[in-house]
Amino acid sequence: MSISTNLSHVVEEIRAAALAAGRDPAEITLVAATKTQSDDTIRQAIAAGVAVCGENRVQELTAHWEAGAYEGARVHFIGHLQTNKVKYLVGKVDLIHSVSSQKLLLEIDRQAAKAGLVQEVLLEVNLAQEPSKSGFLCSQVLPAARLAAGLDHVRVRGLMCIPPAATFPEENLPFFHKLKALAVDIKEEMGDNKTDMTILSMGMSRDFTAAIAAGATHVRVGTAIFGPRSPIPPSP
Ligand SMILES: *Cc1c(COP(=O)(O)O)cnc(C)c1O
Repeated sequence: MSISTNLSHVVEEIRAAALAAGRDPAEITLVAATKTQSDDTIRQAIAAGVAVCGENRVQELTAHWEAGAYEGARVHFIGHLQTNKVKYLVGKVDLIHSVSSQKLLLEIDRQAAKAGLVQEVLLEVNLAQEPSKSGFLCSQVLPAARLAAGLDHVRVRGLMCIPPAATFPEENLPFFHKLKALAVDIKEEMGDNKTDMTILSMGMSRDFTAAIAAGATHVRVGTAIFGPRSPIPPSP
């Protein structure tokens, strides 16, 4: 199957899931998870209509960036982020989905101040409290949002989650509903103009239709567009 055929299937499924939930399909942004893909594959995906590429690793992102592979699309960062790599992202990515600590918020603020911009971010929530995953625990999200609200160069736009791997779409529905409810709570608790909880980044190839039913605004889809990935070597 070609990327453009796969992509049109995914776009159609997003549309159908949105309509089924009584939502406008235009509310949902498809973020193509491009990890492990080559410059050429990324260019093909953009030519086929991908408007946002989501990268997991700073090194890959930088390499594709330098090769001009993202031309015609925007780039989001969706992977685990180390504090010392923040400086390579600021100025390149419109949105960092995966902010998982207060330390990262402070470093993003510092680097964005240097670059003279405001970096938009999402707070990643480890809903299932999985030790193998990063992200704030639910109880840590409000303190993080409060910290971010006091930083001039960071703007929180919403929440992100990576629930346990699903075998069928509805399996993770409880997590998706929980993220949506948490966003509503945080917005209410913060009660300021700055903290925005409109973005909910949730849903991957296996479960994006369920995520849309629960209110996802951004779905991160790799395999369903690009096919199965070869195994990723562990992070250095
Ligand atoms: C790889 C990845 C995805 C996409 O996963 P698929 O199952 O291939 O769709 C989504 N989000 C994150 C954070 C990822 O690392």
